[in-house]
Amino acid sequence: MKRPRLFTPGPTAVPESVLLEMAQPMMHHRTDEFIAIASEVFQDLKYVFQTENDVFILAASGTGAMEAAVVNLLSPGDRVIAISAGKFGERWVSLAKTYGAEVTVLKVEWGRRFDTSLLEEALIKAPETRAVLATLCETSTGTHFDVEKMGQIVARHPQTVLVVDAISSLGAVPCQTDRWQLDVVVTGSQKALMLPPGLSFISMSSKAWKLAENSKLPKYYFDLKKYRQVLAKSDFPFTMAVSLVVGLRRSLQLIKEVTLEKIWQEHHRRAEATRRAVAAMGLRLFSEAPSDAVTAVVLPEKVDGEKLCRLLRTRYGISVAGGQDHLKGKVVRISHLGWQDEFDALTAISSLGIALSLSGHPVNTAQGIEEAIRVLFSSED
Ligand SMILES: *Cc1c(COP(=O)(O)O)cnc(C)c1O
Repeated sequence: MKRPRLFTPGPTAVPESVLLEMAQPMMHHRTDEFIAIASEVFQDLKYVFQTENDVFILAASGTGAMEAAVVNLLSPGDRVIAISAGKFGERWVSLAKTYGAEVTVLKVEWGRRFDTSLLEEALIKAPETRAVLATLCETSTGTHFDVEKMGQIVARHPQTVLVVDAISSLGAVPCQTDRWQLDVVVTGSQKALMLPPGLSFISMSSKAWKLAENSKLPKYYFDLKKYRQVLAKSDFPFTMAVSLVVGLRRSLQLIKEVTLEKIWQEHHRRAEATRRAVAAMGLRLFSEAPSDAVTAVVLPEKVDGEKLCRLLRTRYGISVAGGQDHLKGKVVRISHLGWQDEFDALTAISSLGIALSLSGHPVNTAQGIEEAIRVLFSSED
């Protein structure tokens, strides 16, 4: 028998209690029962976003919330700065260009650390910049970005908002929306929030709402101003994704029970164990500023990463992600996201070692596991 295991950076494993919630008979969304569920969810979303601002639920994958940010904040010809350090930074660039923004791209080599002083300089050069588009964890390279520092920089510019793609990182690593002055934060359901794909979320600061007041880009389904007005009357602009929202209530309860702080620590520990194991197995990390959300491992040159991922999936039911674009076949990415524990980390690490051995490139898997165990089961708490 084979047990499917997801170590991909979305979709991620969904807890049974969440799956069962979603299997309930359908209810109508304009009922007291559903409105009560939704208001609980809106409240708990503020906790995971660490914000007092409203958080909106959209029936779209994460990219939908990215698009909502762009169309609600900008007008045609507005200047934006996009930090592009991988596949998802590139998505910001093409999204903003699609809507006619003038995009200054701060390009970072994939896997490299971003020097935030470059943002400081770019904003001084172009003070009319409306928005800075950034990513907290660049999932294609497993790289962490210091959005806290970016928040301090952008806060000095009253006309500019900071927009953060936290799709693969919110609920996994610290993302202090209010404290870090992150004006707009977007995330998706299928990563650290332990749900199926299909929902995305967006929070807006008062500074962001001011921009939104004057935004002239066309919008209909993603019109957050309208959404806010309707929501104030305890209603929804469109049919809510009832089952997903019901599942979300449960997954947010699970997060609250454990607490965010503990969940961040646990992600850190699984990621750190994986990083140490990778080194002990004689392999290398792709990123010089690795995120605790996902670890990208450089494969030995002769190994075909696509084949390796396929082997793990078809023979053992284990899904890890391969590389994207020019990293295709060259890296594997192991997610630490969501509903995982210490033993999942050991499984992911050993599966990488086993797959490399089966591909004719044996590594010291035992040593890797030993290192990982030291990190995972140290008795600090
Ligand atoms: C997964 C991901 C996205 C895209 O989300 P979709 O749900 O596929 O639309 C965007 N940004 C980052 C950083 C991601 O990890």
